Amino acid sequence: MNAYHRIMLAVDLTEESRPVAERALALASASGAELHIVHVIEPLSLAYGGDVPMDLSAIQDQIHEQARSHLTEFAQGLGINESRRHLIFGRPENEIQRTAEINKADLIVVGSHGRHGLALLLGSTANGVLHGAPCDVLAVRVGQTTEK
Ligand code: AMP
Repeated sequence: MNAYHRIMLAVDLTEESRPVAERALALASASGAELHIVHVIEPLSLAYGGDVPMDLSAIQDQIHEQARSHLTEFAQGLGINESRRHLIFGRPENEIQRTAEINKADLIVVGSHGRHGLALLLGSTANGVLHGAPCDVLAVRVGQTTEK
C-alpha cells in the first residue's frame, strides 16, 4: 500500500482539536509524511448571515490576530514549522479542500465533530470536506462519551 506523503490537519482550535491532532501526528510519523496544519477564519458576515448594520473590520482584525497566535501556539506544540501552517480566510469546508489541493496533500484529517456539535452523524464541516475532496479524508471520531 502506498504511504501518505503529505497530511493536511484541519483544526477549529477548540478543545476537540487535540485528539484529532494527536491522531494526525501519529499517522504522519508512522508513514514518514509531512504534516501541515490549516485553520480557517470564518468571515463574521458569513457566520451572522451577511447583513450586520455595523463595520465589523476592527473586530475581524482582532479575531485574525487571536487566531494567528492560537494557531502558532498549537502548531508549535506539534512541532509543525511556520512554512507548514496555513491561516486562511473564508468558508472552512471549501478552504480546507483548496489548501489541501494547493499543497498537494494526499490526506486531510478532520474531527468528526467540532464547534457545530454532535447533532449530525458527521459534523457539518467534516461532511462538507468529504464531498468533492481532492484526496482521502480521515474523520477522527471525537466527542463521544460511550466507550466500546
Ligand atoms: P464541525 O463541523 O464544527 O463539527 O467541525 C468538524 C471538524 O472540521 C473539526 O474538528 C475540524 O477538524 C474541522 N473544522 C471545523 N471548522 C474549522 C475551521 N474553521 N478551520 C479548520 N478546520 C475546521
